[in-house]
Amino acid sequence: MNLLEVQDLKVHFPVKRGMFNRAQQFVQAVDDVSFSIAPGETLGLVGESGCGKTTLGRAIVRLVEPTAGRVLFEGEDIAKMSSGELRARRRKFQMIFQDPFGSLNPRMTVEDIIGEALDIHGLAAGATARRARIADLLKAVGLDAAYAQRYPHEFSGGQRQRIGIARALAVEPKLIVCDEPVSALDVSVQAQIINLLQDLQQQHGIAYLFIAHDLAVVEHISRRVMVMYLGKVVELAEAKEIIRAPKHPYTQALISAVPEVDPASKRKRIVLPGDVPSPIQPPSGCRFHPRCPIAEKPRCECSEPELRNLSEETLVACHLAR
Ligand code: SF4
Repeated sequence: MNLLEVQDLKVHFPVKRGMFNRAQQFVQAVDDVSFSIAPGETLGLVGESGCGKTTLGRAIVRLVEPTAGRVLFEGEDIAKMSSGELRARRRKFQMIFQDPFGSLNPRMTVEDIIGEALDIHGLAAGATARRARIADLLKAVGLDAAYAQRYPHEFSGGQRQRIGIARALAVEPKLIVCDEPVSALDVSVQAQIINLLQDLQQQHGIAYLFIAHDLAVVEHISRRVMVMYLGKVVELAEAKEIIRAPKHPYTQALISAVPEVDPASKRKRIVLPGDVPSPIQPPSGCRFHPRCPIAEKPRCECSEPELRNLSEETLVACHLAR
């Protein structure tokens, strides 16, 4: 059974305008998105900023309310749960944020930050057990247990991200949504954090939804990769396959921008015309058609492509992809 099954998920935010502050339009941040994650798997999620990937990650852990659709975690629909039901299950799915400083309370010590998660879920019986567990968690993320009494501002960006990981790990989650966890860090520190996440996955069998805009990072850590454009999934395939032979024209453009190690490589950069359109009034038909280098008119302007299987592990939303 899949650990997570997302079905036709929509997140539309009202845009309130006018004298009565009525919602007349909606930002279609996430629109009819479906996918699954197996236990212990890493699914990478890529796309330009504003494509809806962070909103999707937040909707999965119910930090934003889904407008429609189902988010089945171990078979139970998180999207429909009351706040009481959700509280009891929240420890199973956690989130790590992009900004390791902004996500840690500057007035709390590391011990309080990690201990708070233990207290909320009743996971440490007594002060001694609590302290020992916090020391173990700090060691597990490569930090000295003596750091427990320090404050977030006393750490580097990489160390702060390790504290964020320890906090998520404290409640023994089965899924962690990692929202651009390394994009604010130096390249050398990025590799250390990625390695740490991979080690923790092997030790604890945690599944990750790994959100990033850097395809090279995502390919390194993920078994499969999902590509989003303007609130829609346009391609989902095995990481190696998506880098070797991307099928959707948008994925092809994204891959063409990844720097190559081999100087003899002949890969040509595909520069897309224009900007990403507004998610308030997305283009008709295929949302990518105003920027697509191979769009076929009028078909691509009028009819929205379904996400369909090209092979066992490759799903693509494009009329022309073969
Ligand atoms: Fe391009 Fe048409 Fe495919 Fe959309 S459906 S990606 S516009 S070819």
